[in-house]
Amino acid sequence: MADPKGFLTTPRRPRTRRSATARVADWNEVYEGQSLLPIVGGQAGRCMDCGIPFCHDACPLGNLIPDWNDLVYRDDWQAAAARLLATNNFPEFTGRLCPAPCESACVLAIDSDPVSIKNVEITIAERAWQLGHDRPLPPLDPSGHRVAIVGSGPAGLACAQQLTRAGHRTVVYERADRIGGLLRYGIPNFRLEKHYLDRRIEQLRSEGTEFHTGVTVGSDVSAAELRAGCDALVIAVGATRWRELPVPGRELDGVHQAMEYLPLANRVVEGDFGTPAIDAEGKQVVIVGGGDTAADCLGTALRQHAGAVTQLDINPRPGEHRTAGQPWPVYPRTYRMTTSHEEAEALTRTAPQAGADARIFSATTLHLEGDPHGHVTALRLAEAEPADRRPRTGTDQVIPADLVLLALGFHGPDPDSPLLQDLSLDLTDDGTIARDTRFATHHDGVFVAGDAGRGQSLIVWAIAEGRSAAAAVDRYLTGRTALPAPITAADRPLTL
Ligand SMILES: Cc1cc2nc3c(=O)[nH]c(=O)nc-3n(C[C@H](O)[C@H](O)[C@H](O)COP(=O)(O)OP(=O)(O)OC[C@H]3O[C@@H](n4cnc5c(N)ncnc54)[C@H](O)[C@@H]3O)c2cc1C
Ligand code: SF4
Repeated sequence: MADPKGFLTTPRRPRTRRSATARVADWNEVYEGQSLLPIVGGQAGRCMDCGIPFCHDACPLGNLIPDWNDLVYRDDWQAAAARLLATNNFPEFTGRLCPAPCESACVLAIDSDPVSIKNVEITIAERAWQLGHDRPLPPLDPSGHRVAIVGSGPAGLACAQQLTRAGHRTVVYERADRIGGLLRYGIPNFRLEKHYLDRRIEQLRSEGTEFHTGVTVGSDVSAAELRAGCDALVIAVGATRWRELPVPGRELDGVHQAMEYLPLANRVVEGDFGTPAIDAEGKQVVIVGGGDTAADCLGTALRQHAGAVTQLDINPRPGEHRTAGQPWPVYPRTYRMTTSHEEAEALTRTAPQAGADARIFSATTLHLEGDPHGHVTALRLAEAEPADRRPRTGTDQVIPADLVLLALGFHGPDPDSPLLQDLSLDLTDDGTIARDTRFATHHDGVFVAGDAGRGQSLIVWAIAEGRSAAAAVDRYLTGRTALPAPITAADRPLTL
């Protein structure tokens, strides 16, 4: 156990963020540059080393959290890195972006502040890079097998790294011009600076993973051809089919899907062009949706100097604390301020109807209004009944809007894509690719990992999927495997 009295004597300390006004002036990470090193030992020392560590169970990767808390407290960074990297290929992504279900399940969280697990994780991850403990691990014995992976998001990358390290020749095909999936073109720089991604990709390359960008499997090369040329094929194409807003006026100019908008902003930061084709500068922006993607649109619009930004969430405003229906250790639905909402509050550039954090809760969109040229000018909304989300009569209001961004979530992969049709893959009722609990489709030697099989999810699940699918592929190729499989394809988060 780290510090027997740590949880009594040391308060939880958050990671300090730059001021909201400084943050929106650039695209850099929202956090202060200074290291967590001076405080992280004390934070890790708050861990009670519980007999049954619920944090470990709540982490889809099965991260050995109490072990590395103890090692950090004892200043043994090499052993802490070894424990962390044993279960997580990319702790620099989860340590920045994971919603940390482990912290909700921490035993301290029953009546106090949980251990700041995510901050300990990111500190171990970054220190491992600095001290050379996160090294390339090229395989010692090539297996002679060749595996193709379609898609380079966290699921495809984790799968590739595991299979390459196990000795298989692994080639990743990506239709975009850069590797990374949603880590590259979905999540903005202010939450993940892309040099962290580039650093990891370079490590995969140096271990022997091959990458081909600008190749759409199904069009540039047929999936059947790819399958014929390798010993196993893993499909990790994500859940790219976005949900629509079926209201009158959807067709107006100025109404865009979040995933049409966010990649352009990321490309500006990459230096591909100066002004994005969809730009919030000076506009009255309304974001329809309540999740991570909507919050990323909000932060992006503020950095593009939007005139006003409002976010509509169809759900009622959650409470600050767990309710009886959301008992510990499940991940509760409580009111959360993202960094983008903090920024909106600081800048007060929101519509008068919205709260200080730019949000209107219990809001359902009735229709979009346009000018004679077919450009959106306003959004009419009503209060949504909590039970069935139908509009409540007499609650209509109009918000001026000349840019409307739709962030309503995703179904699964595109069912009409030639990739799926080439291999005659079945879809589930949820729109994801059908597979058994070991990630295998009905097509011999074809596996599915990540959001393509699970439906829209989280980076930590995508990494767990990639690792587990790699173990399934290794077993398929060699008849046995020493690779870890943290989850089955049927496992679901401990949440309500
Ligand atoms: C805006 C946004 C913000 C998010 N924020 C968070 C967050 O803060 N924390 C968190 O945990 N999760 C977050 N998520 C969810 C997380 O990003 C996903 O769950 C995760 O990226 C899924 O990984 P994946 O590898 O399955 O798919 P993806 O990351 O979607 O990658 C799939 C890749 O496959 C490629 N591809 C598709 N079809 C083909 C083809 N035919 N040929 C070749 N390549 C193809 C795509 O171009 C893409 O690069 C966010 C999602 C979005 C959209
Ligand atoms: S990956 Fe997520 S759930 Fe797992 S230890 Fe890190 S923050 Fe917690």
